[in-house]
Amino acid sequence: MAKNKKKKKVPQRHGVLVDSFTELNKRHFSGQLEVPTCLRFDKVEKPEDDGHGHYVDAANSLTVSLEARAFGPLFYRDALLHEMIHQAVAKLDGHPAKDHDTHFVARANSIADALDLKHVEADSRSAKQWPKTLRSEDYYGAAESQARQQVKWRNPRSSTAKSAPSGALRSNAPGAHGRTSGGGHGDR
Ligand SMILES: [Zn+2]
Repeated sequence: MAKNKKKKKVPQRHGVLVDSFTELNKRHFSGQLEVPTCLRFDKVEKPEDDGHGHYVDAANSLTVSLEARAFGPLFYRDALLHEMIHQAVAKLDGHPAKDHDTHFVARANSIADALDLKHVEADSRSAKQWPKTLRSEDYYGAAESQARQQVKWRNPRSSTAKSAPSGALRSNAPGAHGRTSGGGHGDR
C-alpha cells in the first residue's frame, strides 16, 4: 500500500491472463515461453481486419483487447494463444514476431492438430485471424455472435473500398496485406 494514486493505471499483468498463459504455454509450447513483462487486457488498435491482440517483441509485451475480454474466456484465450505464437516465433524461432508467414503458420498448424482445427496457409486471412475463423459460429457464445451480427449489419460490404471484409475477394489477397507501411503495429 504505497501511494494512493488516483490515476487509473492498467496493471502490468492481469492474473487471469497469466493463468491462461501458463496453461497454454504448458500445453502448446512445452512450457518454453516466458511470461511477458506486460501481459494484460488493454485497448488494441485495430484496423478493419479486427485484431484482438498485439505482441511487441522488443518490449516483450502482450496485449489482449478489452473487447476480447468482454466476449469471454474462450474468446480471449484464443486471442492470447494467437499472440503467444507471435511470441514463440520471435523468442524461440528467432524470426520477426509480427508476420503471419510460414514460421507463424508452422506453429499455428501444429497447434491446430491438437485442437482439431483445419490448417491455414501463410499470409492468409485465416492465418491473420487464427484460430478465430476456424471455430464454429457458436463456439464463443452469445456475446461474440451478437457482436458479429452487429458488425455485419453495420458494414455490409464496402466501407473501405479495398478490403473485402467478408473474405469474398480472396483471389487478390496475397500481397494485399503487406502494405501497411507504417511501423509500430505488430498484429491485427
Ligand atoms: Zn497475428
